[in-house]
Amino acid sequence: GFKMGIVGLPNVGKSTLFNALTRTASAQAANFPFCTIEPNVGEVAVPDARLNRLAGIANSRQIIPTRMTFVDIAGLVKGASQGEGLGNQFLANIREVDAIAHVLRCFEDGDVTHVEGRVDPVADAETIDTELMLADIESIEKRLQNIVRKVRGGDKEAVQQERLMKAALEALEDGRPARVVEVDEEDAKAWRMLQLLSTKPVLYVCNVGEDDAADGNALSARVAELAAQQGNAHVVISARIEEEISQLEPEEASLFLEEMGLSEAGLDRLIRAGYELLHLETYFTVGPKEARAWTIRSGTTAPRAAGVIHGDFEKGFIRAETVAYEEFVSHGGEAAAKEAGKMRSEGKSYIVKDGDVLHFLFNT
Ligand code: GDP
Repeated sequence: GFKMGIVGLPNVGKSTLFNALTRTASAQAANFPFCTIEPNVGEVAVPDARLNRLAGIANSRQIIPTRMTFVDIAGLVKGASQGEGLGNQFLANIREVDAIAHVLRCFEDGDVTHVEGRVDPVADAETIDTELMLADIESIEKRLQNIVRKVRGGDKEAVQQERLMKAALEALEDGRPARVVEVDEEDAKAWRMLQLLSTKPVLYVCNVGEDDAADGNALSARVAELAAQQGNAHVVISARIEEEISQLEPEEASLFLEEMGLSEAGLDRLIRAGYELLHLETYFTVGPKEARAWTIRSGTTAPRAAGVIHGDFEKGFIRAETVAYEEFVSHGGEAAAKEAGKMRSEGKSYIVKDGDVLHFLFNT
């Protein structure tokens, strides 16, 4: 599955947000309940109204949403790249996630200490970005030394790695994240293998006070500007409100949201933003037993999509039978959609589309 790491300076609201995410009633109501893998790792059901709709039409006995993993990565402070405090563990944890949800304090509260003694989310964002870039510089410099001999010996892989590391280093030393380096198709794999922290996509999570949850505030507006400049994403959320909502039953939660002037839970927006950031899409498998959602990267071929369910589905893939979500719904089910000629038979090179309802045929 896909993993988002929650990072941020101390006291910005990371734990509050993580607890809200993983305790939320909707996560628990799902048939795949939130499960604690480790104290700081939680799986969250991805909200998708289409799944319930499909299950209703097909009379599915079970509804199984797709999931996203959140990791609460505590312990980042200035100097983390130098191994201060929990620094090193922190950086190792970030290497394992697909994207970074960076919580920024956008609320004023004299009772909550700010580590730097002032509330300035843009400066905080830069503090953490800088730590990630410094960590990348350090790891590249170490690795460059280690491959010198291989490069001299003409080792092709080493030559490619050296070239990519130097490109990254040039950006980093210029104060820009490795994310900005443009990489050709043939270098893509080697580039990923470098596992640079500053290549991970970033979602800024502006944690605003309760009164600002609906419209944000001047601080979150500055973060929005920064995000736009950097090509990063941002969402405005009140971790405190989300924590309250997470303790309510679904009906109570909707009433509460309405009172606060919010159209949907911030956590739903957060999860969706993560989905967009990672270019993720959803396809469905629907039958009387269960209606289930599955996550793929956009641009995934049918066999690879099948492999998300089971490796054997990918290996023995023959073809996929496909009905688009809209057709499934407008015809009132798969049989009727098929009758109307809306079921397609697709081969190995088919690129699965968001909302496809799929059956895979495969050899065992
Ligand atoms: P972490 O260190 O980043 O995990 O931060 P916590 O989630 O532990 O939050 C630090 C403190 O800030 C706690 O006392 C929270 O209750 C408080 N806090 C979190 N979000 C808000 C908020 O939106 N408004 C206010 N006033 N306090 C908040």
